[in-house]
Amino acid sequence: MRCERCNEATAVWRHRNRHYCVPCCALARWDTTVEHGIQLEVGFAVPVRRDPDTPDQWWCTCHVCGAEWVDTPGLNCWRCERIMADRIAAQARTALQPPDDLHDNPRARAEWSDRLRTAVDVGILTMDQARDAIARAFEQAESA
Ligand SMILES: [Zn+2]
Ligand SMILES: [Zn+2]
Repeated sequence: MRCERCNEATAVWRHRNRHYCVPCCALARWDTTVEHGIQLEVGFAVPVRRDPDTPDQWWCTCHVCGAEWVDTPGLNCWRCERIMADRIAAQARTALQPPDDLHDNPRARAEWSDRLRTAVDVGILTMDQARDAIARAFEQAESA
């Protein structure tokens, strides 16, 4: 079956019930993203031109962060994934930081424990990391 977009290459992927070759599928997915105004957090490789040195690889661009690199069209953008990982790591560090008035302010203590619980619920922290942070905060208080 031929690609429904370029009519040249063999269709290997489906997107919204149509059949596309690899680069056309990435283009079609990006068109759908724009058409529906979807805000992606992690972009993907949208092909710009074929890479002359490597078969099946294309110069691609990520329309979310602007990265350009050679890859298989449609794969997740490495830079968006790194930005996301950094953001998650920063959120985890913030969540683990106990409030300064932890021991004098029950409300601050409750808020911190809520923040840790939320971080565990959304998968930023593991339960063990949250427990360790609490244990450490109270050990420091006892030795102070
Ligand atoms: Zn095609
Ligand atoms: Zn990106």
